[in-house]
Amino acid sequence: MLLTLTLTQPNAAQPGATSPDRFQPASDLGFLLHKHPERLQTQTLSFGTASVFYPQVSAQQTTVALLLEVDPVGLSRTSRPGEGGAPLEPYVNDRPYASGSFLAVALRDAFGTALTGRSKARQALADQALAFSVYLPCITARGPEDLPERLFGPLGYAVQATPIALDPLYPEWGERPYVELKLSGQMRLRDLLAHLYVLLPVLDGGKRHYYLNDAEVDKLARHSAGWLDTHPERDLITRRYLRFAALVRQAEEGFSQSNSSELEQTAPSASLRPRLHDERLRWVADQVAASGAAQVLDLGCGEGKLLRLLLELGQIRQLVGMDVSARALEIAARRLNLRERPELAARVQLLHGSLSYPDSRLKGFGVATLVEVIEHLEPHQIGPLTQHVFGDAQPRTVIVTTPNREYNAVFADGGQDMRHPDHRFEWTRAEFAAWAEAAAQTHGYALTLHGLGDTHPDYGPITQAAVFVRHNG
Ligand code: SAH
Repeated sequence: MLLTLTLTQPNAAQPGATSPDRFQPASDLGFLLHKHPERLQTQTLSFGTASVFYPQVSAQQTTVALLLEVDPVGLSRTSRPGEGGAPLEPYVNDRPYASGSFLAVALRDAFGTALTGRSKARQALADQALAFSVYLPCITARGPEDLPERLFGPLGYAVQATPIALDPLYPEWGERPYVELKLSGQMRLRDLLAHLYVLLPVLDGGKRHYYLNDAEVDKLARHSAGWLDTHPERDLITRRYLRFAALVRQAEEGFSQSNSSELEQTAPSASLRPRLHDERLRWVADQVAASGAAQVLDLGCGEGKLLRLLLELGQIRQLVGMDVSARALEIAARRLNLRERPELAARVQLLHGSLSYPDSRLKGFGVATLVEVIEHLEPHQIGPLTQHVFGDAQPRTVIVTTPNREYNAVFADGGQDMRHPDHRFEWTRAEFAAWAEAAAQTHGYALTLHGLGDTHPDYGPITQAAVFVRHNG
């Protein structure tokens, strides 16, 4: 993997030039980077070897190269087991050639001091915006084709991203996710390095990032200070970056407390914390409130986040959470403090059960909610679930939320992956609508479809929802 960085000081050598660049030859890049232009410097990193050298040095133009040789066999030894993937995947993969996350880590390692903006010998130059260009012959860019422009353009770069065919002889194999990327702009070196450090992994967006752990998440805060907050793609960048640490998923799914508090500790700032799941739960609670129901059933209640919100609704006299996971129910009981609050025992009940089986305990409710649950069942269980909820239990109102698979294209892996390892499927808007319309028609419900959370102009909302109200309610 190769990255070159070129500094151009066109006036440096012109006699009598009046530009402030006059006395500052481009070869001073060596002072800014703390790397001598005449020396080849090699560093051993945990995933390979990084070399820094200067392919061209002149007063007008100086180029530094960072060459990263990833050791895929060494990597396979340090990879975590049980992550799925093809059997030979640890050995045969594109990481040695294209991974932006490794390159970012190598960049930070090689140019750490420059990234802080300090230069012992040329501080004034380090503080100055200079004419830089960056060349990456091959880098992974997963997701929408215009992503490189969307990420670097707003920061003031001219961006040229050319998709690379997998094999020029076989155009039908397609081109993405690799691009040849050229960036140029007038900026301080420290800003340029910070942009690359944060955005290369965002552009890459691969699933396996052994070296982007919680500590790296913290670094996002440090290296994005001053530019990320006003970046039009701030949410996308944050989401993709945090995804490296696999934290976004856990947050979105509202999984265990330990996981979400882990996120709270490691997320760089409150403004960066993904609020999707909380917003979704709030929306569902509002719908429940609007229904006026006094008996509420939360199907697939998990660890009881929604139950907690619903408890605040005075209108609810009976609140029942049901889940197939006994462990989740134990956690829910603990979170709701059911033992210490005997007054709740009359109002709240937790049931162990499965939506794949008919269950007479589920009858007689005003509202049933299924928040991010259906996608956890096998596709062949959706028919029985629909029958058990709409046909047998027959709550007056049913509220269902589920991911919109189309929106995944915005995510790091360009929609090749589902949002959580336990998801058995994720539906497009059309698939969800088809299921919902059939369920409404068959069982006599009126249906309204909704989109929740961030909405992409082409791919639609991040979360899709349906509210069913029984006709003869
Ligand atoms: N509704 C919760 C949890 C969503 S995670 C929330 O929004 O926070 C999905 C939940 O569905 C998990 O708790 C899982 O145990 C549960 N689940 C999966 N299959 C199920 C089934 N067949 N019957 C009931 N619950 C199920």
